[in-house]
Formats: sequence, C-alpha cells, structure tokens
Amino acid sequence: MSFKKILFSKKIKFSVATVLVLFVLLFTDIPVGFSNLIFASQMSGVDEEGRPLYMHELEEESVDVSEDYSINTNDEPEDFETVISKRISIFNLEDWNLILVNKDNPLEADIECKLRNYNGFDVDDRIYEELDAMFKAAKEDGINLLMASGYRNFNTQTYLYEKKISYFKRLGYSQAEATEIASMKVTPPLTSEHETGLAVDIVSYNHNCTDSDFGNCDAGIWLKEHSFEYGFILRYPEGKEDITKIQYEPWHFRYVGKEAAEFIYINDLTFEEFVNMVNEYNGVSAEE
Ligand SMILES: [Zn+2]
Repeated sequence: MSFKKILFSKKIKFSVATVLVLFVLLFTDIPVGFSNLIFASQMSGVDEEGRPLYMHELEEESVDVSEDYSINTNDEPEDFETVISKRISIFNLEDWNLILVNKDNPLEADIECKLRNYNGFDVDDRIYEELDAMFKAAKEDGINLLMASGYRNFNTQTYLYEKKISYFKRLGYSQAEATEIASMKVTPPLTSEHETGLAVDIVSYNHNCTDSDFGNCDAGIWLKEHSFEYGFILRYPEGKEDITKIQYEPWHFRYVGKEAAEFIYINDLTFEEFVNMVNEYNGVSAEE
C-alpha cells in the first residue's frame, strides 16, 4: 500500500475527524457560545440592549452577595457591655446629684443646701426647675400632680422614725421588732434621701395617698414612664426591695440628673446598682 492510500484510508480519515472535533470542543469558545445561546433562549429573550435576560438575574445575585459581604466587613457593632462602659464613664459619683444615701451609706450630718419652696415643700434649689417642668408636662397630659413631701431635716426625720417605732410597739411588737419594721417604712435619720433635698414624694389630686396602688393610677404610671426625662428616678421599685432595703414606693422620686436618670431607667436599675456599676467601672470595690 502506497503512502497516499494509507493517509486517505477510511480508518485514518475517521481518526483525523475525531481529533478535529475534540480540538474544537476543548480549545475554542464555540461550544460556550452555543450553550449560552441555548441557555438564553431558555430564559426567554433579551432586554432592550440585546443582552440575554438571564444576565439580569446574575447581576442581581451578585449585588445581593456584595451587600451581604459589606455587612460582614463593616465595623463590628459594639457589644452591649462596651456601649454600657462608654456611657458609664461620664458619671462621677462625687457630683452633688449622685450622692447615695441609704442605711449602709448614711449622711454624716444634716447637709447644707440652698432650699426653695415648691408647692408647699422645700427642695434643693438645683432641682426646682426640672421638678416644675415635670409637673407642667404632667398637667399637659391631664395629670394633676401633688407634692406630698420634700426636704426633711434631721429633727423631722427623727420624729417620723420614732413615731413609727412607737406605733408598732403599741401593736405589741418588741423594741427590736418595732424598730426593724419601722425602718422598712420610714428610713432612720441620716439615711433618708429626703434629708438631701433631692427626693420628693408625689401623689395626685385623683390619688392623694402614698400607697402601693398609686403605682397603678394614671399619675403613678405617668411618673414611672416620664420622670427620667426630667432627671428623676423611681427610687424604690417593686421587686427590688432586697437591694434597696425599702418597700416599693411608687410615690418617691429622686433627682439624679437627666443622664443618670435615663441610664437607670433604660437599664432598669436601682440607684444602688447604678452606683455599684460606676464604682466597678472605676475599679472601686462594692464594699468601699
Ligand atoms: Zn419619700
């Protein structure tokens, strides 16, 4: 057999054709273009610019992916503790409005502050404006607040305390028992916030009584929700008696300033817990 015959024999022709087809499939774009054509026709048509509609879907998908990705690469949101720490750093327990007075932290003596009479009761002059603003705001909401107590000096607090002890002794309790019960109802002298001029007892014309039901009446609910806007906190909340060591008193509000009041309200704290948080932030142990 001559060389020509070998070259054009059927077997060789078949092999050459196979190699050509494989070459086209592997090394050219023709099959890709062809499959795109099929794909595009399956995706029913092209847009006004002549691009296959399926390209839109691919673009939308890629936008979604980049959006997800951008969320993940943004600055990580600060965790709750970091936010709290930053906020708590602004408070200074040496400030006049952040003084803690309770049975564990008594005053050394009557404190001296400039008093000013508000609706028949003395208060620290520095809380007068906010107190008045709170009463006026309540009135605009249809709530007629009424002052029930303000500043008390040492003698007044001693009188109220001893009167309460006598009352429970008359009911048959021993001196020790009567003293313990009385101190839940009336704070002993030098441990009452009323001696700072920063605490007020507030009731209303519709509920003119300092009892736990005041917390459920319109005025009690309004004060609970709005007092922080004027720098006051509900000082002895329900369910926190083990911390404050004072019964629930929905009528007793303490001025601490707007920033502290908002922080305490938002975080649902007692003033004792707030002071502990600030001390912890400043590296002061709770016992100090
Ligand atoms: Zn009070």
